[in-house]
Amino acid sequence: MELNKSLPSQLKLFNFAKKEISLLGLYQISDFPKISEIASNKKDNVRVDLSFYLKNNKTPCVDGIIDLDIVLACQRCLDDLSIALKVNFHLAFVRHDQQSEELESHYEIYVIEEEELATHDLISDEILLAIPMVPTHDFDCIKEIKKQEVVEGKSENPFAILKKIKIADGGKE
Ligand SMILES: [Zn+2]
Repeated sequence: MELNKSLPSQLKLFNFAKKEISLLGLYQISDFPKISEIASNKKDNVRVDLSFYLKNNKTPCVDGIIDLDIVLACQRCLDDLSIALKVNFHLAFVRHDQQSEELESHYEIYVIEEEELATHDLISDEILLAIPMVPTHDFDCIKEIKKQEVVEGKSENPFAILKKIKIADGGKE
């Protein structure tokens, strides 16, 4: 098994798998434009670990781990929301669908024609898949904001404040 310290820009799937190569790469969030668009901590590290091997003597596979902390905007209060992502994935690269029937179900199957894959695209896609669709704080962050508003607006007519809260709630309560 070979151990390399940086990732090449193209992954030679069959070739790497046959040699059972393990690769370790260190990036910044800003290296991935699609991630950088939504993350506010663009200078933070992304650690990537890839291990290649051949399954059934013919199917190139990759086990990977991507480690990063990402700061997104909470979709409820729009404040910063920091998420520690540890993305674990198992990919199998096949030429046609039938080939995937021999593989265990934990593999994500990629049907590809080419022998090479762009490293950046793979990492970027895996991170995007792991990011929650609608990231929100795991506490009721809107309620916290409302409490602050009530305290700030103390001198107002208390009934006027109540009305405001009801409207903000969409009339749920
Ligand atoms: Zn929030």
